[in-house]
Amino acid sequence: MPSFSIHLAVARAVDAARTPLYFVGALAPDAMDYPHKEHLHFRTCDNRADELVKLARATDPTDDFAEGVLVHLFTDWLWDTTQLTRYRQHDQSDDWWRSYQSHTGEASSHIYYTEPWAQPLWQAMLAVPQGEFGSIAGIAPQDITNLMQGEMRRVQRVRGPSTFFPPELVADFVAHAAQAYVAWRCLHDYCEVE
Ligand SMILES: [Zn+2]
Repeated sequence: MPSFSIHLAVARAVDAARTPLYFVGALAPDAMDYPHKEHLHFRTCDNRADELVKLARATDPTDDFAEGVLVHLFTDWLWDTTQLTRYRQHDQSDDWWRSYQSHTGEASSHIYYTEPWAQPLWQAMLAVPQGEFGSIAGIAPQDITNLMQGEMRRVQRVRGPSTFFPPELVADFVAHAAQAYVAWRCLHDYCEVE
């Protein structure tokens, strides 16, 4: 995964006018542990692209939580096949995951401290009542709250930016991911009316 702030930035670039619940949905799929998380992200499927299309067709675009979940899973797919792949080529050590996480944490923290929308958005997301959260099999509302609270503490502890995922690269990824998502969503049942 590209880091929580990058997920929020992509979700925002897709549609900044949606409610905080949409942004909760845009983090929620990470509120579970391995190996279930891999399954939810379709990483264990033979054809991840097809599974994402099936989910897109089953997702009501007026359901902010569900639409946020879809943006998250699409963004991870794009990130895994571009930036994560690039990272794995750069670091082939056994404990690559640790340094990778420190780079994505730095990139996340940099967004948190430099983008004026970031801190108010975290507060707005934490204020959404758990009863409004949509459902994802295997994830309880409290898991999502724990994820958001834990991640906010984490971004506050770290300082970016990351040298491997610097702000310019992250901004390019965010813009490209949002454009790609809007085009892909339009192919699969939902076009934004201009
Ligand atoms: Zn994820």
